Amino acid sequence: MLKTGDSVREIPELNAAQKRAIKSYGAETVGDLLDMLPRRYDDYSRTVSIGDAPIGQPVTLKVRVESIGKQPGFRRRITIIRASLKDSTGSLRVIWFNQPWLLEKLPAGKEIFLSGTIQFRPKFGRQMSNPIWEPIDSEGVTSGTVAPVYPLMGSVAQKTMRELMARVIENLDEAPDPLPADIRETCGLLTRTDAYKAVHRPRTLGIAEEGRRRLAFDELLVYRLALGSARHEADKAGAPSVSFDERFAKRFVASLPFPLTDDQRRAAWASILDMQQTRPMRRLLQGDVGSGKTVVAAFLMSLTYRAGESAALMAPTEILAKQHGRSLRRFLQETGQAPVLLLTSSEKRLWEGGEEKTLKLHEARERIREGRILVIGTHALLERDMLPPDTALAVVDEQHRFGVTQREALAVAPRPDGLVPHLLSMTATPIPRSLALTLYGDLDVSVIRQKPSGRMEIKTKVLTGADREQAYAAVVAEVKKSHRAFVVCPIIDESDKLGVKSATEEAKRLAAGPLKGLRIGLLHGRMPPADKDGVMQSFAEGLLDVLIATTVVEVGVDVPEATVMLIEGAERFGLAQLHQLRGRVGRSSRVSSCYLLSDADGPALERLKVLERTNDGFVVAEEDLQRRGEGNVLGTEQSGQAVFRAARTSDIDLMAMAGKAADELLNKDTELAQVPELHTLVERVRKTSHQE
Ligand code: ADP
Ligand code: MG
Repeated sequence: MLKTGDSVREIPELNAAQKRAIKSYGAETVGDLLDMLPRRYDDYSRTVSIGDAPIGQPVTLKVRVESIGKQPGFRRRITIIRASLKDSTGSLRVIWFNQPWLLEKLPAGKEIFLSGTIQFRPKFGRQMSNPIWEPIDSEGVTSGTVAPVYPLMGSVAQKTMRELMARVIENLDEAPDPLPADIRETCGLLTRTDAYKAVHRPRTLGIAEEGRRRLAFDELLVYRLALGSARHEADKAGAPSVSFDERFAKRFVASLPFPLTDDQRRAAWASILDMQQTRPMRRLLQGDVGSGKTVVAAFLMSLTYRAGESAALMAPTEILAKQHGRSLRRFLQETGQAPVLLLTSSEKRLWEGGEEKTLKLHEARERIREGRILVIGTHALLERDMLPPDTALAVVDEQHRFGVTQREALAVAPRPDGLVPHLLSMTATPIPRSLALTLYGDLDVSVIRQKPSGRMEIKTKVLTGADREQAYAAVVAEVKKSHRAFVVCPIIDESDKLGVKSATEEAKRLAAGPLKGLRIGLLHGRMPPADKDGVMQSFAEGLLDVLIATTVVEVGVDVPEATVMLIEGAERFGLAQLHQLRGRVGRSSRVSSCYLLSDADGPALERLKVLERTNDGFVVAEEDLQRRGEGNVLGTEQSGQAVFRAARTSDIDLMAMAGKAADELLNKDTELAQVPELHTLVERVRKTSHQE
């Protein structure tokens, strides 16, 4: 019998097609295969007669082959097999494409189960195309059952996947359940082994859903435990109390080039209160793009320096780290000479005592070791000796771009004195409350809803066909006014992951055509950091009019003079991502616009129009969820990592139960020593990090 940890080689009697399937999915263990969940199910569980069969729904029929033949003459490379099938209530036309062997397998007179969906064609009447069939005497894998529909890869056939999974399930041993029995019973869940059986070989749709719920519960529980155990670890270690200098705080706020909004003040104040405690702060600062989170972070970092300690800020990209370095120095200008060290893999630059210099790695390490400094960087900060020993505040910007581990690594890395820093985690991805509780259940949340005053709405327009000229005209017009424009292009080609080709070709096309004569810059993922930087800098300084980029510009880039955002192939992006992208403009009191260019129609186009109607990121997020509906798997987009396969955004009750169970488990036993299998799963999640 098979165990989940067994190698796929242990599965008995696999045919060549099944072996190929395993290879193309890259599955190594039985567990890897079992975790490959069906996307949906076709319900063939009720056998009906031809006379009663409804049109447009999957059905299973028990029929006899009346006649079968090859359709002559059609297009050359396609074989069409046409058959007439019969039961006591009538007959049905069936066609199969490219399955010439059926002539032999289905001779007239043979009895089969036939599963598929009957369509009505005005010209031919009722007809089924490409139905699945089983001889009547075999125990059918699909016919007469609820058939899982797996996401297919390459040339693997659905039938192969179904048979492969059926084989695994047949041979699956009852395994010990990682979930304590009392929790399983109170929550009314199947055992894990039963859940696998239910999901891969359900007798009814109801049972399949029960199986999915159990697997979803595990994912949610493990995720909550991962967050919770990080929180417990931090609490146990304790944090340095950061003393609050009120006079300095007032001076800092007064020296800013703008008044803080009420929401910014509230978020800062909540953090100040937290940071005075010895229990580590763990706060999520949620604010739509352009709401001004950076200045809140700068304020807190500056207060930390004032209190005699160090602070670190981690950003997901170099461009952003450098921009934060600039902002921080600008905000600090009036109130003090806090040293700032910018740390990326390509550069270590220090501003201290009125001087600016580039450091060698060992010099940077030495300076860091001295402490009392503000460090800003990419994940280079997570390398050894890159955090000052007296770091009292760790800020993670755009935290959803990092995995839980990276986010935690900053906050849980103990200082030489054993304490851990306070954590401020910032995100521009607004998510509905139920989700926030699940994904950030361990964090206190501050929200910045207000936009800084004087900000104009971003006018958004969806353009198709010849109307796209309007967008190019707008770019030209804005550049005439000394404003700047972004053009974002989607990655069209799978082999072009970094967008080199898409962006380069688009730049060529625009420079030769609609944007002729403008100064155009190019930004994509393959460019060396120094070049990326140079281009960004030129764009920020106005040496370039238009920046053509892939989604590299999605995160946080701040160029107040940019007033047009043009997005090509907009239907290829999620709503939340489009909202993020358009947040690159509208960062001043100038009127800004966003053009979504698309050749889509129908629902895909309707979806884009949501962005014409609202500028509120929370509304966009809710709409996005509703549109994607019930089947929406809790995604990478929300969690920053692909740890969820079964859990859906609609599993509100499971989220609540899993949260409660996680708290109970951790209260009883912080180290999870009594539930070793769960502990292993938790550690795995904490190690999974988001890959860009
Ligand atoms: P995000 O929240 O997206 O990170 P930023 O912190 O980059 O936003 O801020 C966007 C822009 O708004 C920056 O140019 C910043 O200086 C400016 N800003 C921030 N707060 C205010 C405010 N209260 N009033 C006016 N401008 C502000
Ligand atoms: Mg930002």
